[in-house]
Amino acid sequence: MSYHPKYEMLQAYVHGELTSVDGFALATHIESCPQCQQHVAKIEEQAGLELETMQVEESFDMSVIFDRIVALEPCDEPIRIARKPRIVEVNGRQFSLPLTLSRFSDDIGEWKSYGGKVFSAPINLMEGARVNLLYITAGVNIPQHTHKGFESTLVLHGSFSDEEGEYYAGDYLLKDSSIKHSPFTKEGEDCLCLTFLTEPMLFTQGVARIFNRFGKGLYP
Ligand SMILES: [Zn+2]
Repeated sequence: MSYHPKYEMLQAYVHGELTSVDGFALATHIESCPQCQQHVAKIEEQAGLELETMQVEESFDMSVIFDRIVALEPCDEPIRIARKPRIVEVNGRQFSLPLTLSRFSDDIGEWKSYGGKVFSAPINLMEGARVNLLYITAGVNIPQHTHKGFESTLVLHGSFSDEEGEYYAGDYLLKDSSIKHSPFTKEGEDCLCLTFLTEPMLFTQGVARIFNRFGKGLYP
């Protein structure tokens, strides 16, 4: 694993300043990344120290806060905590999902096949978020494309490459609209990714029509 979120993004994660989609992407990366786990632990420690030394108003009364908490309506919805990774099946292959995602395994939609080479399934994580599982079989080239907004990708299994590098399980990538790339998988190595899109991707090459035929491109 050699592609990590930027340090500033980890800081924003700890301070709760990310959107829920970005927060989810980071949580999933951190689950499998000891290096970022260490960074997060440090940032949390710092944040804790800052809290301790923070000036507190005179009127701060713990018993008032406690009363407010116990006065809250209890929530009937069960808390969904996955204790075991769940399995997802695509194109006859089985993969175990990260724990962050296992909680949502019932919210994974139908797999769509693009020529039997690329498969995508939407995950209904939260309103307005375009989150997809993307499975690319071995030895496939995806036409060059760019993005109107941001695309972040988290590799879950296997690997893929583009003009800028090779990405393996756990790697986290953030691409913006200035980047054109043509991802591909090597012979003998397939890839399962989690993609987070803010805008649909735009294909920049002719071959892409094969993909665009399916309506709105690779992502619903
Ligand atoms: Zn990391």
